[in-house]
Amino acid sequence: MEVINSIKFTMPSLSVNESAARAVVSSFLIQTDPTVEELSDIRTAVSEAVTNAVVHAYRGTSGTIELTVKLLKDREIYIRVKDRGCGIPDISKAMEPLFTTAPEEERSGLGFSVMQSFMDKLSVRSAAGKGTTVTMRKRLSYHGD
Ligand code: ATP
Ligand code: MG
Repeated sequence: MEVINSIKFTMPSLSVNESAARAVVSSFLIQTDPTVEELSDIRTAVSEAVTNAVVHAYRGTSGTIELTVKLLKDREIYIRVKDRGCGIPDISKAMEPLFTTAPEEERSGLGFSVMQSFMDKLSVRSAAGKGTTVTMRKRLSYHGD
């Protein structure tokens, strides 16, 4: 992985930090001159991952969320959202569209589907009781000005 630039940002699992995370990612990505759509896709994917850490990982408790954003060679963006919360017992089940463990709260079970469709690659690693790490990548287009 050839890293051109990167930031790492840690925050407590407060829902106000969902917008803080979007803002940090946007500020970092300005250097790449993304299209409006690319920026919006990445902001949405980051938001879903951070929201999951806030609402599921630390349900009833609180903890720390770590957000890493890297600019790799060939305009590839790498994003990692890491929590040390409850973990996901069955990752493939959790990633199925419409699967949610919180149907009573207006959750629709589409967060992972959104991350998958807005980014080029999505990988989820998790261990019960230890936490979850979501890694995503997206290649930005080359566009003239
Ligand atoms: P929506 O994102 O549509 O509001 P949702 O969060 O339930 O609903 P997904 O984001 O697709 O849907 O997540 C599916 C399920 O995976 C969640 O209901 C939850 O059980 C589990 N999950 C996701 N992220 C985490 C996490 N960081 N820690 C623990 N469990 C998680
Ligand atoms: Mg979700």
